[in-house]
Amino acid sequence: MHWTFGPFQENTWVVRSADGRGVVVDPGMSSRAEQERFERDLEAAGVTLEACYLTHAHLDHVAGAAFIAERFGCVPQVAEADVPTYQQAPLAGRVYGFEIAELPDPQLRPWSGRDAITWCGEPIEVRFAPGHAPGHVVFVSHAEGWVIAGDVLFRESVGRTDLPGGDAAALAASIERELFDLPDGCAVHCGHGPSTTIGHEKAHNPFVNAARTGMMQR
Ligand SMILES: [Zn+2]
Repeated sequence: MHWTFGPFQENTWVVRSADGRGVVVDPGMSSRAEQERFERDLEAAGVTLEACYLTHAHLDHVAGAAFIAERFGCVPQVAEADVPTYQQAPLAGRVYGFEIAELPDPQLRPWSGRDAITWCGEPIEVRFAPGHAPGHVVFVSHAEGWVIAGDVLFRESVGRTDLPGGDAAALAASIERELFDLPDGCAVHCGHGPSTTIGHEKAHNPFVNAARTGMMQR
């Protein structure tokens, strides 16, 4: 399930198990109306949230973190390397004129390579993919053939690298190393915009060179 929330049009994802448990990724609901829509949709689908994960802690991806912690008792789990991003989020919000509720203390995870975790009993691989944010991770379900890619890779675009902690070379390396070794048919669920596939991006992403061996320098 997914929703598009807030002025930044951020995609919030819920991955659910067959028995009605769910994990929310990047909760971006930023108004009471969006919170209510999220709650209503979960209730209609019969989903009980049991965990909250962040691909990274930019303000549009954590705008609903306080709500999720209060309403569902799930504090955000975030890579240790993204703690500075998490701490800057409320200030970044004020810079953008986008007030977010005080963030809950996160659960820090020592992700720095590839790590095996479970969501509702199902295996998920966490892959460390910095560049857009210093502690950005992506979540892969090899069994179901998808990756929740946050702001690393978009349909025919890539994440920006001009924000604090951004690094264009690191982003290119992350895409090549952690995303482009997934199967062509693997679905890519993005932090903004429509979903895509690894194969489509290898063939059509203008930031990837035609030889498909690396990133075009721009
Ligand atoms: Zn971001």
